[in-house]
Amino acid sequence: MDFLDFHHHKQNKTGIYNLNLSEVIPQGNFSAGLHPKDISENWKSDFDKIKEISLSKNCLAIGECGLDGLINIDENLQNEIFQNHISWAEEIKKPIIIHCVRRFSQILHYKKAKVPLVIHGFNKKENIGKELLEAGFYLSFGKAGLDNLSLQKLIKDFPVQKMFLETDDADFDIAELYEKVSEIKSISLENLKTQIWENLENVVNYG
Ligand SMILES: [Zn+2]
Repeated sequence: MDFLDFHHHKQNKTGIYNLNLSEVIPQGNFSAGLHPKDISENWKSDFDKIKEISLSKNCLAIGECGLDGLINIDENLQNEIFQNHISWAEEIKKPIIIHCVRRFSQILHYKKAKVPLVIHGFNKKENIGKELLEAGFYLSFGKAGLDNLSLQKLIKDFPVQKMFLETDDADFDIAELYEKVSEIKSISLENLKTQIWENLENVVNYG
């Protein structure tokens, strides 16, 4: 069994490939969404395209999409577009992969969505992580899990049934992160692997 890389940007990995809108639909599993930084005046036609390609069977999730407090894109517009992604995901019954930078309190308002919500690349404070968990979100941890001590503290207590692991756009071997997390959580590598695959099953076939 391969290591599942929940969110990545390289087509040769096992997991969910984050598709670029200019690309053709790949053979493997992917997600499609409008990253807040890619919001332009053409967002409506971009979003129509996302709707179309996300109907593919191997499109496992909508995203990454979300809210980013560090970019120069109107926040109301970011919220409107994020809400559009959620409504669409609810319609086609697919989970959402969320990009969130400095907007966690706003993201919490979306907890009532009727689809599984996964925050990718989570590397913030323990209390924020716990709050998101209580609100029902899944968290996906990336490279920071290898050496960020406060994040490792969160991972230690975080239910393995609610987590994913990912490389995102970083260049490292996902196996290293699985080893680190299995060590932190004192569970076997095999159990961790199996559970993360099961988590994918659960978010993709929720309902
Ligand atoms: Zn990414």
